[in-house]
Amino acid sequence: MPMLDADLDQFRRDTRAWLEANCPAEMRKPMTSDEDNFWGGRNTKFASGAQKVWFERMRDKGWTVPDWPTQYGGGGLDGARTKILREEMAAIGARSPLSSFGIWMLGPALLKYGNEQQKMEHLPKIARGEIRWCQGYSEPNAGSDLASLQTRAVPDGDDFIINGSKIWTSYANYADWIFCLVRTDPAAKKHDGISFILFDMTSPGVTTKPILLISGKSPFCETFFDNVRVPQSHVVGTVNRGWDVAKYLLQHERAMISGMGGRDGGRPLGQVAADSLGADDQGRLDDAMLRGQIASFDIDEAALACAAERAVDLAKAGQLHPAFSSAMKYYGTELNKRRHEILMSAGGIDALEWESERSHDGSRARSWLRTKANSIEGGTSEVMLGIVAKRILDLPGA
Ligand SMILES: Cc1cc2nc3c(=O)[nH]c(=O)nc-3n(C[C@H](O)[C@H](O)[C@H](O)COP(=O)(O)OP(=O)(O)OC[C@H]3O[C@@H](n4cnc5c(N)ncnc54)[C@H](O)[C@@H]3O)c2cc1C
Repeated sequence: MPMLDADLDQFRRDTRAWLEANCPAEMRKPMTSDEDNFWGGRNTKFASGAQKVWFERMRDKGWTVPDWPTQYGGGGLDGARTKILREEMAAIGARSPLSSFGIWMLGPALLKYGNEQQKMEHLPKIARGEIRWCQGYSEPNAGSDLASLQTRAVPDGDDFIINGSKIWTSYANYADWIFCLVRTDPAAKKHDGISFILFDMTSPGVTTKPILLISGKSPFCETFFDNVRVPQSHVVGTVNRGWDVAKYLLQHERAMISGMGGRDGGRPLGQVAADSLGADDQGRLDDAMLRGQIASFDIDEAALACAAERAVDLAKAGQLHPAFSSAMKYYGTELNKRRHEILMSAGGIDALEWESERSHDGSRARSWLRTKANSIEGGTSEVMLGIVAKRILDLPGA
């Protein structure tokens, strides 16, 4: 409808002007390390004045979560306006003002399964970056086979007493609260006796122990629960039906991780490679094999962007297959691994520098190694392919 288009055009102009006036120049540069992310939380610190200004301005407009309802701290934008905001942010390379498992994972699950009290309690704090969340799903013997989890929650009056341990809990040592899967009925079939529960990481009996990654960083932990007392009212959804909440949250987690395949304001690979390898007399990257790899990568990256856009439209129309996020997660993370392989090839031997000012403390090599985990976290590539075979393609024997 022409009237609607005019409204959207006006919204685009207003948004562009607002971003131009409010997004500091420093916040328009590609991120180079995890420190460039602002994660929020009780003990958070801003990496720079510009990061603080940018976060606070976006928070005050509700644009840390533009599409959440305003009563929960969001911007109340519809799908079309949210898309315009994202496009205009991408056009100037604006960084996301807040990185948050609360936004990417817990929020959508609470919006669908939480009761009103839980929504009012937790969503505004997520939107305002006041509470940082971690995800307590995986256990030493429950990764791909997540429903085998053994962490027990036993009723005691109005509370549960929780005992057990989680592993690979990203940022558990920085998180304020955890969304956690616990077994509440050990006699039931394994998917049927699980509950999804929220609790404060400062509760007596919760401890964390960081684990080192191959990249030399330590972004995740073993997490232990020793007689942790949690009110039963902290269960999201129905007791013993936590698997429904868990699966729904995983769809959002996988969609978020698939976004790693996108360039997100970074420079095109061809330009990065040309900086170190130079151009031939026709102005083309001076390495035919790498040129071919980059061209093929660029095409696949464009295909991922189209598929992501289609997924958004299908979701809006209520027609998105629930398992589509698995296809996107598989493709996006394999693509991100390829991107970093190419970046390493383009950088030659210098790209392997590990500790130096010139290499920004080995950021290229460390990022390359970190991508190896992309096709494991949130469900492995093999498991994603299994889900696509079974649930989308309906292949015999899958
Ligand atoms: C960087 C990172 C961050 C993470 N953050 C978190 C977090 O915050 N919270 C959390 O709860 N978990 C987190 N995880 C854990 C992650 O979800 C698990 O590692 C993942 O689900 C795989 O489980 P696993 O490690 O036990 O491997 P396993 O399940 O033991 O798998 C081992 C191998 O067997 C293959 N395999 C297993 N089952 C099948 C099958 N059915 N078909 C085909 N192949 C199969 C796998 O593909 C894999 O190659 C994180 C992991 C990483 C790497």
